Amino acid sequence: MEPTPSKSSLHETIPGSGLVAYFSMEVAIRPEMPTYSGGLGVLAGDTLRSAADLGIPLAAFTLIHRKGYFQQHLDPHGAQTEEVQPWNPADYCTEEAARVTVAVEGRAVTVRAWRYELTGQFGHVVPIYLLDTDLTENSGWDRGLTDHLYGGDTNYRLQQEIVLGMGGVRMAHALGLRINVYHMNEGHAALLTLALLESQLGGGPQGAATDSDIEVVRRKCVFTTHTPVPAGHDRFSTEQAIRILGGERTARLEKLGCFHEGLLNMTLLALRFSRYANGVAMQHGKVSRAMFPEFSIDSITNGVHAPTWISEPVQRMLDEHVPAWRRDNLYLRNAIDVPETEMLTAHARAKEELLAEVGSRTGLVLNPKVLTLGFARRAATYKRATLLFTDEERLKEIAAKAGGLQILYAGKAHPQDEPGKALIQEVVAEAAKLSNNDLRIVYLENYAWDLGAQLTAGVDVWVNTPKRPYEASGTSGMKAAMNGVPSLSILDGWWIEGCIEGFTGWAIEDGANDAEEAHSLYTKLETAVVPLYRDAPEKWARLMRTTLAFNGSYFNTNRMVKQYARNAYYPERPAETAKVEEEAFAD
Ligand SMILES: *Cc1c(COP(=O)(O)O)cnc(C)c1O
Repeated sequence: MEPTPSKSSLHETIPGSGLVAYFSMEVAIRPEMPTYSGGLGVLAGDTLRSAADLGIPLAAFTLIHRKGYFQQHLDPHGAQTEEVQPWNPADYCTEEAARVTVAVEGRAVTVRAWRYELTGQFGHVVPIYLLDTDLTENSGWDRGLTDHLYGGDTNYRLQQEIVLGMGGVRMAHALGLRINVYHMNEGHAALLTLALLESQLGGGPQGAATDSDIEVVRRKCVFTTHTPVPAGHDRFSTEQAIRILGGERTARLEKLGCFHEGLLNMTLLALRFSRYANGVAMQHGKVSRAMFPEFSIDSITNGVHAPTWISEPVQRMLDEHVPAWRRDNLYLRNAIDVPETEMLTAHARAKEELLAEVGSRTGLVLNPKVLTLGFARRAATYKRATLLFTDEERLKEIAAKAGGLQILYAGKAHPQDEPGKALIQEVVAEAAKLSNNDLRIVYLENYAWDLGAQLTAGVDVWVNTPKRPYEASGTSGMKAAMNGVPSLSILDGWWIEGCIEGFTGWAIEDGANDAEEAHSLYTKLETAVVPLYRDAPEKWARLMRTTLAFNGSYFNTNRMVKQYARNAYYPERPAETAKVEEEAFAD
């Protein structure tokens, strides 16, 4: 079949430069499309939104995820059940005519792409190609390969990664895109390197790769790792690799040193073939270098897309006082000058909206004057959602002294994460046990984009209690900061860079164990947060303002994407980039 030329010939907008192809297993494109699960997808979406705003010549590849991630339901005891989220790609995307094939378990699987056009604030378009195997020429099983984000077992995952990595590279070629840089957002996309290597060798899985062949691929690839612990990296057994990828490809990957402890390691594969690699916060860069000492790993700290995460009332305030923030997020630094009363009023609006949402979801009437803490994130054990309940009596005392305390929880557990699911039930049980006139604890169902935006904008303090050093970056606290909401958090991930004690929030001190860290959490609440909130509204307003000015101006994807452009995509020649080599594909 003849490839369809891409409508958005972005490479023509910057003479002499090809595109960056950004590969991510999940992308939060818009709230109505269930193509993401959490932080990684939201970051990918925010990256693309900023790339579009900045006019970066970039195209993205992901999977269509026809059944979504899942919609979370909680019974009164907090037991989670999951519902599929079927959606219709044609409602938002245009089908491309191009078809490519990839070999999965020896079968030829046909792949098509749906194009979503993400338009930046000045009209620049970043096309997102959502790969789809739901075609009549494929078997029933293969048609389902692009249905479930993070669904199924590791066999399913490896098959999806073939579609994403190898299918994506071939699709880019079939669409006539001229790609200079392939950016792997996490190891899920690492197999794209194999497709590029095979293309360099003239087609299929055979042929011996020389160092110079590998160097040709390396010159095109950059990689971002998001995982601070070895167990978090995608790994597959030799048996799986041979069965699903094929014996020749597996042997090649083994020879190239992509196996560790007998397992095919996607992070190793991505690192071997990347000329540039980075972690997603300063500390995460260090942790990654310690984990993979033979590689040079930089760090580019994550951000969030400011106009996506700043609430309407705060946007209106900024438009009035610092209008340049939309063009260049660095101007958020000038929010240091917004009137205190306006900061308080804008936040009060966002809080009212949040509490109205809580009311309509739960029937609970919360008090807009009462100090409200937010804790929303994936229900994984290392995030320690129950740390706040370590000393129940002390928490109740704090609530009484504060003149009331409201704590809003939300978060999904991965369907196969039983300890994570148990954690939700524990929080729900604590909520029932501890809630009284002073203390209200609510667990909200189905944490997703919209609720995330309302929570980070509407609470008074954003709480984060990960176990160090498991939080690679974290981005929800950045969304809060954009809205002037300070964090109270363990010094891990982005917060090591973002915490200026008393100006952007507070650090929970490191302790030898959970109890010690809980003690520090209570102490900060008692001595810093509660007195300031209760007794000194002008000082609280100034705290909100410094939070927004200091952290909003830095922890945004506008800054982050510029760093990728300068350090990863075009380190030597920012304006003019390398010639695109011809690529050949066969299976
Ligand atoms: C921002 C966001 C996340 C990521 O937040 P963390 O701080 O990494 O936990 C996850 N899920 C949703 C819905 C979000 O909006």
